[in-house]
Amino acid sequence: MTTIKIGIVGAGSAGLFAANELGKAGVETVDISIFEQGPKIENRHCPIKEEELACALCDPCRIMSGVGGAGCFSSGILNLNKNIGGNLGELCENANLNADKIIQQIDEFFVQNGAPNKIFDPLEKEKKEKLKELRRRCASVDIRFVPVKQRLLGSQKTADIIRSIQKFLESNYSIEIIPNTKVTTFDEQGNLYFDGEKKENFDYLLIAPGRWGMIWLAEQCDKLDIKTFYEPLDIGVRVEVPAIIMEQVCHIQRDPKFHIITHTYDDFVRTFCVNHKGYVVKETYSEKIAGVNGHQLTTEGKSENSNFAFLIRQQLTSPLEDTTEYGRSIAKQTSILGGYKPLIQTLGDLRRGHRSRKSLIERNPVQPTLKDATPGDIAMAYPYRFVKDIIEGLEILDKVIPGVNNNSTLIYAPEFKRSAKRIDTNSFLESKKIKNLFFAGDGAGMSRGIIGAAVTGIIAAHGIINKIKNEQS
Ligand SMILES: Cc1cc2nc3c(=O)[nH]c(=O)nc-3n(C[C@H](O)[C@H](O)[C@H](O)COP(=O)(O)OP(=O)(O)OC[C@H]3O[C@@H](n4cnc5c(N)ncnc54)[C@H](O)[C@@H]3O)c2cc1C
Repeated sequence: MTTIKIGIVGAGSAGLFAANELGKAGVETVDISIFEQGPKIENRHCPIKEEELACALCDPCRIMSGVGGAGCFSSGILNLNKNIGGNLGELCENANLNADKIIQQIDEFFVQNGAPNKIFDPLEKEKKEKLKELRRRCASVDIRFVPVKQRLLGSQKTADIIRSIQKFLESNYSIEIIPNTKVTTFDEQGNLYFDGEKKENFDYLLIAPGRWGMIWLAEQCDKLDIKTFYEPLDIGVRVEVPAIIMEQVCHIQRDPKFHIITHTYDDFVRTFCVNHKGYVVKETYSEKIAGVNGHQLTTEGKSENSNFAFLIRQQLTSPLEDTTEYGRSIAKQTSILGGYKPLIQTLGDLRRGHRSRKSLIERNPVQPTLKDATPGDIAMAYPYRFVKDIIEGLEILDKVIPGVNNNSTLIYAPEFKRSAKRIDTNSFLESKKIKNLFFAGDGAGMSRGIIGAAVTGIIAAHGIINKIKNEQS
């Protein structure tokens, strides 16, 4: 029997879980190579100590690239819900798979590899009354609260878990992870090309380059005439408040999800990536863009503050559908104003139309956990509509979390989730145009998060397994 060769691009959540599913399928004649442009986990160094957090996400650490992908040095909040992180229910249903079961399998695999054995479940019995009260408060001000079961890996643990997954895959299956190897292009015949004109042929390809590789992937699709679609942009700010303000809601749900429709523009605004007792961190992209994100070191958290992303979802229509470029231009403008650092402003100043100054931030009751940000005026960089959405959204949220709308609340910008272009695929995420070419994860516009990316990797793996089995029978 000839050996079937599978090439995977990207060793993030999508690539690793796809490889695990392919390995588990037990097709004896399969060889899997995962090409990863970043290093293996043991060579990814991003020493996340509290005092070093300000630089924890800078380029030299290559935070988004390497085995484990972008999730490797993240807080590692696993959202165990098919409605979070992409249309996972629909994607699985289309492939005749059970989303709940797959998410459970992914979660179990994380636990087998060392994830803390603690679930945060808002629906558990002891929280029933508190949850009911929270829902009542939300309903009374038109906020939708989305209960989600979550597991928190914690930034300090996530790399160890990835190390264990890497070891498991390489020692149990015919899987080779090839680090520091950038795939420069791929073609219709199943070839992957590398720097220096080297190429290798595969029977099946799975391309999962994450957000780091999303622009590259969109360009490759253009070259191969594979259709892609723009996804909505998620842009907003990171909000930082004293942890005590968030204590009650975070007790019910570790990463509480509140969905709000703003009054003036009817825009959809949501809380995302809540880091209770966590830290705001800088995220540096190429093109001199400095954004912000949030981190949580351990399940318990150590910081006196909590932070969350407050994101507006914006879809654009013809003639300017390019949400990627629109988001990039706002982020770039914000970075320029901050001297290539994120902007920080108190909510009071943003509301009053004042620029925040260093002296004011120094005596602000809430002290920033990210020191490397420039006090400024976010309204100089963000469109009026988004500033209005942020101010109105926080006013509404304050009715459920009293204190978030205080003048002393800190606002950082830009916080944006680059939206990848979604690739036109069949229900098993195989290109409709080129056979045996599969796509998965955030970079292909199919997911937004560790669990979502893993689910799409597994769907693609099922597509490949089905094809192999059909060909063998
Ligand atoms: C700071 C931060 C915090 C986050 N926190 C959370 C969280 O708490 N919970 C959550 O669910 N999600 C979180 N996320 C998002 C999560 O990490 C991603 O959704 C997830 O990692 C996407 O998985 P992926 O496999 O699609 O892509 P990635 O994890 O990005 O992996 C893609 C990999 O492909 C490699 N690659 C790209 N192009 C090429 C190429 N041409 N050749 C070879 N290799 C290539 C990249 O180096 C990368 O390692 C966070 C992200 C960041 C940046």
